[in-house]
Amino acid sequence: MWLGLDDTDSLEGGCTTLVFHELLNSLPCEYGEPRLTRLWPFAAQRTRGNASLSVELFTDDSIIDWLDKYWNEKILPLKGNVSESSHSLRKQYPSDPGMVLFREQPSEDYYWRAVRGEVTFFEGGRQWGGNGRIGAAASCAWRCGNVTWEGIAWRKGSRKVSENALTTVEMMDGTFLCRDPRTNRGLIAPRGPCPVMFGVRATDRDTASKATQILIEGSSETIGSRIFATNQATGDHIEKAQKLVVKTKEMLQGGHIILNKNCLAFNESGDVNKIAQWLEIGDEIEFMGLEHEGNFHLEAIKVIFSSTAKRPLCECGTRMKSMGKGQGVRCPKCKRRSDQTWYNEERKPPLQGWVQPPADKRRHLAKTLT
Ligand SMILES: [Zn+2]
Repeated sequence: MWLGLDDTDSLEGGCTTLVFHELLNSLPCEYGEPRLTRLWPFAAQRTRGNASLSVELFTDDSIIDWLDKYWNEKILPLKGNVSESSHSLRKQYPSDPGMVLFREQPSEDYYWRAVRGEVTFFEGGRQWGGNGRIGAAASCAWRCGNVTWEGIAWRKGSRKVSENALTTVEMMDGTFLCRDPRTNRGLIAPRGPCPVMFGVRATDRDTASKATQILIEGSSETIGSRIFATNQATGDHIEKAQKLVVKTKEMLQGGHIILNKNCLAFNESGDVNKIAQWLEIGDEIEFMGLEHEGNFHLEAIKVIFSSTAKRPLCECGTRMKSMGKGQGVRCPKCKRRSDQTWYNEERKPPLQGWVQPPADKRRHLAKTLT
């Protein structure tokens, strides 16, 4: 059977990962690998991190009564934690927890629709609660096709992770996004009232587990930890890269750049914005972006070709000059003439290959591109 849970957190300090961890600790049956999935970032009533949880249960229908009781006692009381956010312009919705239980894993198609767009409820099985049922079912539907791992520990009191432990896990093969190279700031510990002490990401389970142990030893007191299979950094939210030739480029208020009237490179996107600014009409790029209300929000950009029209160089090394409309060019020094009035010189972008926003501005789902 498949169990899913979502939307129990709020900015006041709740966190679905901890609620799920406690549920797993209480379960009267065996269960599989816990999974943490991130879904479409623009979903209307999404929770903060857009994380939903699921797990396979090795049991039968007898678990329903147990879950019923657990739901009423432990999860339902979390409903309606309205959070006032001072650091988010986004409208915050009250948490509306949802829990689902299915005999069969929901169709994979539901996951793909929920990670790439807005979906409605998935019918069937046994369901408890409200909007959280959507993310809960979508998490159950995930097939772990692309997978990364995250070790999460929850704090008892204050949040403190030693710099030494952070440096150690940062150096391990297989961990990623531990630290923002620009600011040198650690990325594993959230800020604010959330009960998470740290979340450390890795490309394999074993590394996530080892890194978690090292960090726990270097942290103030924790109340537990768990390793999750996740769809983070898999790029599942974007089907494929697209190409475009720059036809228009405008700078909007706030330093955001919009290409071809529909491709947005936000100021916060750092190097992505820098490349967008550098582009000229006629340049060809490849990009990854999420479509929202008719615009693509750029998450990665790569210059394929950029050139600039220049007057040819004379054999003597001097730049030729126009002699007037339709009359070719001439060297101002040795007076040689040429009928080739322009040629395209390739421009080298300030950053080669795929360029992405700084580590702390990337989406959970964003894949690291090289
Ligand atoms: Zn010359």
